[in-house]
Amino acid sequence: MELDIEKIREDFPILKRKIGKYPLVYLDNTASSQTPRQVVDKIVSNYENVKANVHRGVHTLSQEATALQEHTRERVREFINAGSVREIIFTRGTTEAINLVASSFGDSFPDGGEIILTIMEHHANIVPWQLLQRHKNLTIKVVDINERGELDLDQYRSLFNKNTCMAAFCHVSNVLGTINPVKEMIAEAHAHGVPVLVDGAQASPHIKIDVKDLDCDFYVFSSHKMYGPCGIGVLYGKEELLEKMPPYQGGGEMISHVSFNHTTFADLPFKFEAGTPDYVDIAAFAQCLDYIDSIGLDKIEAHEEDLLRYATERLLEIPGLRIYGQAAHKSAVISFLVGDIHPYDLGMLIDRLGIAVRTGHHCAQPLMERLGIAGTVRAGFAVYNTRSEVDALIDALNRVIPMLS
Ligand code: PMP
Repeated sequence: MELDIEKIREDFPILKRKIGKYPLVYLDNTASSQTPRQVVDKIVSNYENVKANVHRGVHTLSQEATALQEHTRERVREFINAGSVREIIFTRGTTEAINLVASSFGDSFPDGGEIILTIMEHHANIVPWQLLQRHKNLTIKVVDINERGELDLDQYRSLFNKNTCMAAFCHVSNVLGTINPVKEMIAEAHAHGVPVLVDGAQASPHIKIDVKDLDCDFYVFSSHKMYGPCGIGVLYGKEELLEKMPPYQGGGEMISHVSFNHTTFADLPFKFEAGTPDYVDIAAFAQCLDYIDSIGLDKIEAHEEDLLRYATERLLEIPGLRIYGQAAHKSAVISFLVGDIHPYDLGMLIDRLGIAVRTGHHCAQPLMERLGIAGTVRAGFAVYNTRSEVDALIDALNRVIPMLS
């Protein structure tokens, strides 16, 4: 059955906004997607009815808040098919989750160890590994791409050796849209005894994730790209690895007993959740996963694939327009440039016509350098976007390009 996009759009009040006199066409979903009323209502209702600190009080509100937060943990476990809620750690987002793994799991890396990353990584999956290099003698090796923006898998395979201690790569590129063959890449790493972190920030809103099937050691993602609240994310880690890892931050919630002589830590997952979490938003995140499931990720993916095909076709009608990233297996994000027009100029002028796109390096400066450009314009699609919004983007570009050429 086809999705009723107009009905879905009704769930997102922000889509009725105007920018000046133009209707908003929101195409910056790769950065953050919009949040449906059902989730916003849940946040309000949590604030109005059950705001109390979790895991601390014996009183009713605290117990209810704790139950809501732990319900979300179970819901996330189910959503990504993890084996246990002990493997689900709440973080502030993908960035914090990767920092946690780099800092805590990275603690065990031997001097002289090597980490395999790819040229298409977001800074969030580069800099935390570089920070580790301040304390340890570690080498970072980088997998390149071909002209379509697909990873060079032969090179990937050739980078493993006895010193390799970690491989970390994105499931989907936030610039090129490339969907990487992560299952095969994980199997290859495991054949060398190397653990793998998958940055799923751009995959989780669009693709069904099954961490057992992937057999990844760590998988990370952010709620705000999944129609959810800002400031929360998830680290999935295999229990046997998390069990051995030292705490990332110290404080309340993550201890079993504290004295000035000796402190013992809480069990998983709480060992990695120091301090008061954003339990109001975590609780609402369950609503968000329910919302996605009520539509169906397979249907969301099919709709976005249609938009990707249509938008690619229409964009390529524009003289001088180049698309960066033409992978055979691609998610609904399109990075492009027109002639030698600066992406900021294009982005700013089409904003005046109501079109919200992203411009710049998209936190992927090494990739920009590899492509020999400073930045791109990026349109990223979500379930509520329509073909007529693609037409509005094309019309806006056709209006402003002559002014900038
Ligand atoms: N990795 C990728 C691939 C991303 O696209 C992003 C967000 N742009 C991040 C990591 C960082 O996510 P967050 O800012 O939510 O921590």
